[in-house]
Amino acid sequence: MSHNSIDPLATFQSLALANELLKAIEKIGFEQPTPVQSQAVPIALAGKDMLVSAETGSGKTAAFLLPALQRLINEPSSLFGTKVLVLTPTRELAQQIALQCRALAEFTDVKVGLITGGEDFKQQQGVLRRNAEVIIATPGRLRELIHQQATDFSHLKLLVLDEADRMLDMGFSDDVLNIAHHCNEEKQTLLFSATLTHYGVIKIADRLLKNHYKTLALNTLHDGHDNIAQQMMVADDNDHKQKQLVWLLDHEQYDKALIFTNTRRRANELLAPLQAQALRVAVLHGEMDQRERNRVMGLFRDGIVRIIISTDLAARGLDVKGVNLVINFDVPRNGIDYIHRIGRTGRADEVGLAIALVKSTEWNLMSSIQRFLKQRFEMRTISGLQGSYQGPKKLKSSGKAVGSKDKREAKKEPAKKIKVRLRDRKNIGKRRQPSLKPEETPQDS
Ligand code: AMP
Repeated sequence: MSHNSIDPLATFQSLALANELLKAIEKIGFEQPTPVQSQAVPIALAGKDMLVSAETGSGKTAAFLLPALQRLINEPSSLFGTKVLVLTPTRELAQQIALQCRALAEFTDVKVGLITGGEDFKQQQGVLRRNAEVIIATPGRLRELIHQQATDFSHLKLLVLDEADRMLDMGFSDDVLNIAHHCNEEKQTLLFSATLTHYGVIKIADRLLKNHYKTLALNTLHDGHDNIAQQMMVADDNDHKQKQLVWLLDHEQYDKALIFTNTRRRANELLAPLQAQALRVAVLHGEMDQRERNRVMGLFRDGIVRIIISTDLAARGLDVKGVNLVINFDVPRNGIDYIHRIGRTGRADEVGLAIALVKSTEWNLMSSIQRFLKQRFEMRTISGLQGSYQGPKKLKSSGKAVGSKDKREAKKEPAKKIKVRLRDRKNIGKRRQPSLKPEETPQDS
């Protein structure tokens, strides 16, 4: 079953929701949880921060309202102040969310307040004074009320950023960050966006979500990164890739560039050959202590270093202006990592370029990533630097190579004899899980 289709066995009862909520769900007439609901609710109820891609119409609103209400039922509090805050870009959306929240909360004591522009300011100060546990708000008006010191988010349990990509596109980025910093630090944060490949969404997730947050990709809309050109280039081996890399760093126009490898070792190995080309380059990876990392980041920010070679983990949280070239020296292990990598470039008002260097053994993974993104990348060659590998001779409709093993590779490396343990023999012949599992990837991979 695809992670986007309804699981016929999923029930609201299995989501560990209180009877008051189940009763309301029945009254509203929802029979079964939608995929975003059955996948996001348990993670949210476990208290985890989460970045979710889900579009309007997927049932995402209940996916954050149900765990929000459940938390209020589980943890009743006599403390004054807002407990759940939902930020959403438009007045209409805020009204719809408030409507659904009131319907879901019908059999609870939870009070829901709505704060949007265009409504009476005094009346909205009253909403806050009357101490609604749940506030649904648009960022602009809420910022004004925070400015008036009319809000109290010091006991907030949950912050939801709904349609984060739209909020950022509408210029609410500073307001959202400001509001988030007015909330207590222990709060849980859920970030919903139609697309994950949006400049800013990944960065705001890095800034506002706790380390090791979960990413749930329920759709992978390909809008939102029109300003990132995505290309791939085939390569014979790592030496060939290194030549391509040097050429690109010499010939592309960029302020700052990021090169991604899958291992620290490869990141270290690339440093000397690039330095030998008089490129202003440094390495950033998890083995380095924090002081050293900060020093490298400072040099990169100031433009003294223009190129950073990094692994995925080290690049999380990396928020530097002017990164307009991302080179995937190694193809990332899955679609989510790919999105996180390219999310480092392509600001709304700038154009970014992402190039993946692809060996024959990486072709199928690259085509899985393209399928995951519902995109075909532009194939690029460098004249004078073409290798003997030109991509698979024949392609399956999936974009993968016909005949999974590359013959040249197979010739070079005789198949190793693998001893199979007795208890594993019964599994021989059964299909293995595909390595690409983009729907949920823990952020510490
Ligand atoms: P949303 O994506 O949250 O805007 O929801 C889209 C529509 O789906 C709204 O009209 C919801 O009332 C409805 N909806 C949400 N969850 C369910 C469900 N489990 N079953 C049927 N309809 C739902």
